[in-house]
Amino acid sequence: MTVQYSSTRDVNNRVSASLAILKGISEDGGLYVPDHIPALPMALSDIATMTYQEVAYQVMQAFFSDFSSEELWACIHGAYNNKNFDCDTMTHLKAAGDAYYLELFHGRTIAFKDMALSILPYLLTVSAKKQGVNKEIVILTATSGDTGKAAMEGFADVPGTRIIVFYPDGAVSHIQELQMRTQKGNNTHVIAIKGNFDDAQSEVKRLFNDRELAQQIERQGYQFSSANSINIGRLIPQVAYYVFAYGQLVKSGALQVGEAMNVVVPTGNFGNILAAYYAYQMGIPVKHFICASNKNNVLSDFFAQGEYNRQRPFYVTNSPSMDILISSNLERLVYDMTGKDTTLTAELMQQLADNGKYQVTSDMMAHVANFYGGTVSEVEVEKMIGQVFASDHYVIDPHTAVGAHVYQQYRQQTGDTTPTIIAATASPYKFPRSVLSGLGENVAEVDDLVAVQQLQTYVGGELPVAVQEVLEATIRHSQVSQISEMKASVLAILDVE
Ligand SMILES: *Cc1c(COP(=O)(O)O)cnc(C)c1O
Repeated sequence: MTVQYSSTRDVNNRVSASLAILKGISEDGGLYVPDHIPALPMALSDIATMTYQEVAYQVMQAFFSDFSSEELWACIHGAYNNKNFDCDTMTHLKAAGDAYYLELFHGRTIAFKDMALSILPYLLTVSAKKQGVNKEIVILTATSGDTGKAAMEGFADVPGTRIIVFYPDGAVSHIQELQMRTQKGNNTHVIAIKGNFDDAQSEVKRLFNDRELAQQIERQGYQFSSANSINIGRLIPQVAYYVFAYGQLVKSGALQVGEAMNVVVPTGNFGNILAAYYAYQMGIPVKHFICASNKNNVLSDFFAQGEYNRQRPFYVTNSPSMDILISSNLERLVYDMTGKDTTLTAELMQQLADNGKYQVTSDMMAHVANFYGGTVSEVEVEKMIGQVFASDHYVIDPHTAVGAHVYQQYRQQTGDTTPTIIAATASPYKFPRSVLSGLGENVAEVDDLVAVQQLQTYVGGELPVAVQEVLEATIRHSQVSQISEMKASVLAILDVE
């Protein structure tokens, strides 16, 4: 059955997969959701023998109905290969302690964003062709640190595209900042913003909805699109690794076919954990979704109390890619919780915009009884890194440590021993100072670049290529802007009067 996409805020606004990918977000401010979740096209018992590419193909074919088989395979071969990933399975499942760490950081920028952003440029250019678009596509992206780099790696020098990335000045790690500021490619632009991630993301959303701006750039032959995790072209490829991981657990004997696993996801914008939920709705057996937050604990409060309230202090933490108070993709879960009621979803989102909060009913919460939320302090994050290394000689990054710690809380509270995967969302090399500190080293006087070398003695093996590149590359981007200047910066980059 064909899958179409409609807005979470207007059921009558229906588009094909390729148009949803191209547009990124619906004009009414809502997010595109599939009109139904397709069932897994393969038997659970077959997954264990499939390659990553085969799983990715089956999942995407089920969702992207207007893509031909040839088009999809071209996208998959372009993205999931040995040039972009350093292992044949794209992801790696590492058993340590009570859990299996699903390493999602084997791509070019050593964070999980590569899993989707390596394929998005292919999906987007195919979509543009299908929709007869002859304009140059301009990707506007706000990043909390990892998306921006991964998106630029994906789009660098892709013909017919241009990418502009905004990141919060001083709120990303030194390695992340260098990764972005040394980005190559004639079509890449990076701007540091005087504000936090939420400010940058809100302004990008506003620019997307600015009709006058859209017309202005169209006259010059440009059209906006988004690489943010609200684009279904990012969300759906992420479903694949949860399906694949289930197969790997079966293959290793940790699960019998049909038995459920738990999934723990260190969460920010709610994209990664939503992909796990879609995998479940396709038919992957999952018992609990464990949503792990850092000190910005808006989601753990939501799952505990049914109130989403962003009116609280914003903290810059040692897991910066999760420093978010407006988790955009939660809107898609809320839409499900309302029983696909677009009027109610729109109303709740309006309350969030007007009052900074909304409350859902206990009936709605009953839809997500299989979600568990937890929160972790920065000190606990560092302790967790030390603890996992002490018991398993395995080095995890601070984001993964947030997941590991919330999982520990969950196990203590519930006694549930279901086999569990923890999404390992970044390589420890991306946050070397926090990791070293967790390992008990004094890093007061140590810069990220020195810390990287020190960390190597714990991790062993070669430095990832992504890190070697940063150590050698030259700075190419130095622009800093106020939030209020973002629009003007975009116009200047595109040379539009
Ligand atoms: C983006 C990111 C997250 C948060 O993922 P969401 O899909 O936004 O919830 C967690 N960890 C790392 C390392 C990230 O880059």
